[in-house]
Amino acid sequence: MSPRWEPVIGLEVHCQLLTRTKLFCPCPTTFGAPPNTHVCPTCLGLPGALPVLNGEAVAMAVTAALALGCTIRAKSTFSRKNYFYPDLPKGYQITQFDEPFSEGGHVDLEGASGAADGSEGSWKRARIHHIHMEEDAGKNSHTRGSASVVDLNRAGVPLIEIVGEPDLSSPHEASEYLRVLREILVFVGVNDGNLEEGSFRCDANVSIRPIGESKLGTRVELKNINSFKFVEKAIASEIERQKEVLDAGGHLTQETRGWDEANGTTSSLRSKEAAQDYRFFPEPDLLPVILDDAFVARKRADLRELPRAKRERWVTELGLTPYAAQVLTQHPEVASFFEAAANGSTDPAHAVRVANFVQSEVLRDVTTYGQVAQFPVVARQVSEIVALVATGKVSGKQSKELYLLLKARGSEVSTASVVAELGMAQVTDVNVIESACAKAFAAHPRQAEQLRAGKEALFGFFVGQVMKATKGSAHPQLVNDTLKRLLAAT
Ligand SMILES: [Zn+2]
Repeated sequence: MSPRWEPVIGLEVHCQLLTRTKLFCPCPTTFGAPPNTHVCPTCLGLPGALPVLNGEAVAMAVTAALALGCTIRAKSTFSRKNYFYPDLPKGYQITQFDEPFSEGGHVDLEGASGAADGSEGSWKRARIHHIHMEEDAGKNSHTRGSASVVDLNRAGVPLIEIVGEPDLSSPHEASEYLRVLREILVFVGVNDGNLEEGSFRCDANVSIRPIGESKLGTRVELKNINSFKFVEKAIASEIERQKEVLDAGGHLTQETRGWDEANGTTSSLRSKEAAQDYRFFPEPDLLPVILDDAFVARKRADLRELPRAKRERWVTELGLTPYAAQVLTQHPEVASFFEAAANGSTDPAHAVRVANFVQSEVLRDVTTYGQVAQFPVVARQVSEIVALVATGKVSGKQSKELYLLLKARGSEVSTASVVAELGMAQVTDVNVIESACAKAFAAHPRQAEQLRAGKEALFGFFVGQVMKATKGSAHPQLVNDTLKRLLAAT
């Protein structure tokens, strides 16, 4: 009988830092410029050009490492990784090799299926081995008939590589690891999380072993999986392939494989025999990076609250549901918008009302791109609308119209002025409501008779009639009270 297999997965994630300029030269990092326009002697690897380390990139790398619980090493160095490829004009990549700037760290998976205690809704900690800084290569395209072209705009763009331990045990955990990692990096402002443009990309090391075995099986590396949708599929397909080979009594080779989206399978790119000898040696043109305690302490103090901590705080302190907290932390700017609106009142229930209003009305109009989000209204306006409803000045139905008007008029307009201009105040005049209630009973005598006879379900019908007659502006509680009073009096 063939053994039952257990997958072992470790991810290596390349993440582009959001600096304005490249890692070792002043060329811009902007995506989408015409090919080979963001280049200079340094990133073209011309003789005599010297690299100068970008301080902002180091600061962002440290922020990322601290957010992931890594230890920052006081001294780190750069090395040359030598290989020949057309997208690498120098003939080597400058990277951190044996002395990276950080080590340790972890990613906590929420609701992981393979949690240590197997319980539902628990979390699992996946360890990070280390994070290092390096420069990106250029981009080869093989799309023009028989010719290949190279664009060096991306050559020298700053990356961090987050090297994970083989702690993941299912394709789902791998995609959850990426989701949490991406969320944290976007939240602390160092990455735009854009998989399509390649600023967040992943390689996966996949092996299987019999359950209960502690030794790792033969490892296969899956290269550049650039979509959350495909990461699970690619890893699952590779696990199945390995099982089939081993179950049939075959042997796996250590190799690099690529994911073929069209066929839904992986295929060999190069075997271990053909693996490169990179001949690493220390980069002679760069001094060691020294990160003193004061610098690291400053970066730690500047660190924004992480999304998971935010969600826990909102649930315990503000009374949000875990679902609402999850929805409102989907983007750092959405979280900031919610917090600004929620802070607009001392009413303890204000935050929950704001959360509901943002989810039901505002979010569908929000567009995000990288670190930036665009909102149809400002947080103050949302806070004001919610407060007007809470104090009974406008009805829930009117609040939606109010929102649409403010959206059309822009952020400078005051909510109160629009309410006054439209005569939108909620009807709280008892005489007006009483008259509407009496008219509703008169217009529907049969239903009124049945309600008096005890058919409670008809109460809602009359509330609806009064709301309709007042175009939704009647204060709902007053309508309820008045209907009850009139019923009791007859
Ligand atoms: Zn350059």
